[in-house]
Amino acid sequence: MSERRILILGGTGEAISLATALIGSRAGRVITSLAGRTKNPELPPGEVRLGGFGGSDGLIRYVQAEGIDLLINATHPFAAEMSRNALSAHQATRVPLLRLLRLPWEHQPGDRWILVENASEAARECRQRSGAILLTLGVKDLACFRDVDASRLIVRVIEMPNPELLPGSTYVVARGPFSLEAELELMRQHQIGHLVAKQSGGEATRAKIDAARILQIPVIMIERPPIAREPGCPVFAEVKSLLDWISRNGLSSTASKLAKKTK
Ligand code: NAP
Repeated sequence: MSERRILILGGTGEAISLATALIGSRAGRVITSLAGRTKNPELPPGEVRLGGFGGSDGLIRYVQAEGIDLLINATHPFAAEMSRNALSAHQATRVPLLRLLRLPWEHQPGDRWILVENASEAARECRQRSGAILLTLGVKDLACFRDVDASRLIVRVIEMPNPELLPGSTYVVARGPFSLEAELELMRQHQIGHLVAKQSGGEATRAKIDAARILQIPVIMIERPPIAREPGCPVFAEVKSLLDWISRNGLSSTASKLAKKTK
């Protein structure tokens, strides 16, 4: 029997843990796909492909050409377009689709969250408030903050973007995970008055949320985009529960079981 082919849509720490575990359990040939946005991404074990597929049609062609048996969407909770494309590819090819989606952070006593729907709304909130702002967003969201006084912006990024994007702001180039002590230090050093964050969830970046609570700093929290869901495409909050599901159902029978459920 030929080896099963598993395509992980990655770009998260969980996708790396998942690839490691699937390879360790000899589940099949594991290919992780990365968007290719950062120059030195942390690479998972197994095969890696870089760059977009060319929309949902491109992903469908890839899945068919590579004979993919199982598609796992382990992208970030804010990767809405890729998630929609994964669903379209599942619908077109009937290749089973699993979603690995970490839980959002829970609001705790002492948290001062201002919930907004997107980066533009977050920027509007920033304009209405005073003091220094720590932005912890992806580069593609930064343009929304052009109308905020740049001298107030401390922008933390993984890689230095074109400084002309937000001229006059202070860039902090650093890759997480960050400790609570480091986050407290950063916020104190820059006398941060507001933190802007995405509701990413997970442990790797939660220290900033804890630090903001301790320092009583309001968080302008960008809520998650709606999840592209379909009955028969299970969603797992943790790598372990997804792996348990595969081992309970058997990868070879995953396709037929999911196909029955989605009929
Ligand atoms: P997105 O808006 O959902 O996707 C935009 C386009 O980027 C997709 O249509 C696809 O291009 C390409 N793409 C995205 N993820 C891909 C992947 N894993 N493999 C190949 N192509 C991919 O995604 P995004 O929010 O820009 O995120 C890009 C990547 O960064 C994802 O892998 C995500 O897991 C990771 N990431 C995102 C965030 C965030 O806050 N958004 C945070 C941390 C990590 P085509 O249409 O050409 O296929």
